[in-house]
Amino acid sequence: MSIVNQPDENIKLIKGVGSVLANKLNGAGITTVLSLLEYFPRRYEDYSNISKIIDLKPGTVTIKAYIKDIKGRYVRRGFHITEAVASDDSSSVRLIWFNQPYREKGFTPGCLYYISGQFGLQRGRLLILNPSVERDVDFPVNTARILAVYREAKGLKSRQIRKLISECRPMIADMDETLPDWVVRDYKLMSRAQAVEAIHFPESLENLSNAKRRIGFEEVFNLVLACLSAKYEIKSEQTLTVKFNVQLAKEFVKNLPFKLTDDQRLAVMSIYKDLEHHQPMNRLIEGDVGSGKTVVAAMGSLMAIAEGYQVVMMAPTEILARQHANTVYNLLSPMHTENTVALLVGSLTKVEKNRAIKSIASGRAKFIIGTHALIQERVDMHNLALIIIDEQHRFGVNQRQTLIKKAGHMPHVLSLSATPIPRSLALTVFRELSISRLKTNPSGRKNVITKIVMPGIRTRIYEFIDEQIEKGRQVFIVTPLVNESFVSNAVSAEEVFDKLKTGPFKKRRIGLLHGKQKPALKNEIMNEFVMGKLDILVSTTVIEVGVDVPNATIMIIENAERFGLAQLHQLRGRVGRGKYQGYCYLMVGSSQASTSRLRALESSSDGFELAELDLKLRGPGAIYGTIQHGALDLKIAQLNDKTLIAEASEAADMFMAKDNLLKYPRLSEAVAELKMVTNLN
Ligand code: ADP
Ligand code: MG
Repeated sequence: MSIVNQPDENIKLIKGVGSVLANKLNGAGITTVLSLLEYFPRRYEDYSNISKIIDLKPGTVTIKAYIKDIKGRYVRRGFHITEAVASDDSSSVRLIWFNQPYREKGFTPGCLYYISGQFGLQRGRLLILNPSVERDVDFPVNTARILAVYREAKGLKSRQIRKLISECRPMIADMDETLPDWVVRDYKLMSRAQAVEAIHFPESLENLSNAKRRIGFEEVFNLVLACLSAKYEIKSEQTLTVKFNVQLAKEFVKNLPFKLTDDQRLAVMSIYKDLEHHQPMNRLIEGDVGSGKTVVAAMGSLMAIAEGYQVVMMAPTEILARQHANTVYNLLSPMHTENTVALLVGSLTKVEKNRAIKSIASGRAKFIIGTHALIQERVDMHNLALIIIDEQHRFGVNQRQTLIKKAGHMPHVLSLSATPIPRSLALTVFRELSISRLKTNPSGRKNVITKIVMPGIRTRIYEFIDEQIEKGRQVFIVTPLVNESFVSNAVSAEEVFDKLKTGPFKKRRIGLLHGKQKPALKNEIMNEFVMGKLDILVSTTVIEVGVDVPNATIMIIENAERFGLAQLHQLRGRVGRGKYQGYCYLMVGSSQASTSRLRALESSSDGFELAELDLKLRGPGAIYGTIQHGALDLKIAQLNDKTLIAEASEAADMFMAKDNLLKYPRLSEAVAELKMVTNLN
């Protein structure tokens, strides 16, 4: 093989890799030899037990045998069979390959081969089907071992990846240690090189499990370290403090049209306490849709406004920003504090926008509410104390950071989210975040009746919807994508809209809402729906964070299997908000696997539980969206492996106490990257 000395050499230096293959590898994120070696297997097949043919039992087997009587033929057009006989000193067995005509010329009589595959009964005959075969050499790659199986990418087979990795195998020994030596020693870990070797070419199941422990340990260690060093940085920042005024709090509560829940009261008190410190607040309010996060944010802002500071709230959509502006204005108006709410959204006219920007810069505006426009426009904040980010997970790290920079100093940060952070993540990755949970739903709403709907009974559901519309109720229909072209099969909003308008609901008033429309049009359509001028609203997930429509009772989600559980749970929170029973229908294609995942929604209405399940099934990236949390999708470590997490966290704590990142260039690089993810403000 060609020798590639440095693990970070370009992938094209490996024997057999030309531009075409290199492109495919790049597509799978493999650009260097190092990244190839860090492309870890997805699963394993155990071919390590070599049996005598006479002892073979149905299942995965490996034999060491001679191959003879090789015959190939076309059974019919396009269907080729190669047959052969393998024999060792105990017995012989038939081998069959489908559509692999090259097998006919592939073997040398009189040579010993490793043969691995599935042994079993096929049409009354015992045989090994489509086996992998390799000459009896020192390092068999595809047979006679615990075989690593790799995630296949476009045009890239697991077998190809395995072959390339074995080409580079001699270089593994030269890989640098990435963890501090004392960590490797004290926690009895394999060296990095040993672990990478064993993860690709395990010698035994024990060897493999040690390798996984080492690599998983490092993943968690790095994450926790990122989180700790982010905390360290925040801690060393100072910000202004806001005094608590009990009279003011009492007055606010007295003027509310409802009684705060205990969770709400607790959350507000925690905010007040945080604001009294010089250390910037970093708090997240978690609560289902409708749990009343807005009033917590508004009341949380009260003291800051009373002291003459500014508060900025950023929301992901205009609809939401406008709604919040109203809510906050109404909540503040009975108070004797200054009530100057400024709205900054993309669809304002130039004049309106300039007026808003001016009142923000002069400090007259006390509560500023806006969308991404807050980041885009040249806005100068004046004495900003607190930043509130609504639907926190909808914003990327950079967007949040940019907004914070506009403050000119590190402000207090409060995030609101309906997607809960599962406990296991909260304890490791986000442990520097203070979390307030709103567990009780103030309105005492009934659970939304949720059902998975197979394609066959769609008509029946449509009949039920029509009855509900007849009774005056309204319906949301949510689709995953705007245009068909993105992903085959995905039912697009436009397509559904056209179909319904001319088909089953042609007598009904149907609206269409999606992300590509102009904000003004979106507002108009949403308003029509709110006013009851539309019976059905077909939309993409833009309504995920939409407005309160108590009269809407049915939510239909097309291609529900494409969504995560947490997101589906949020979506269904949009219906059944008034006095009527809510229904959510999850329309699915036919894939059984994803349907069973959705069953959890039929039986559980606990957003925290569902998020935990989502985490287990699909990883953090799926819950929070890849912009923000893709990097949390650990390759090897399981976030529910309590021992591993405890050990790696302990090691990270010790590292912060006695060691220094500057000594470890590769580690600090990894940590810097992860910090972008673990830092929630
Ligand atoms: P979310 O947490 O989804 O942002 P909102 O803040 O929009 O929820 O609140 C949903 C609705 O519940 C609003 O109409 C709000 O006025 C109402 N609400 C909030 N807190 C209470 C409460 N303690 N009792 C009754 N209604 C409440
Ligand atoms: Mg909200």
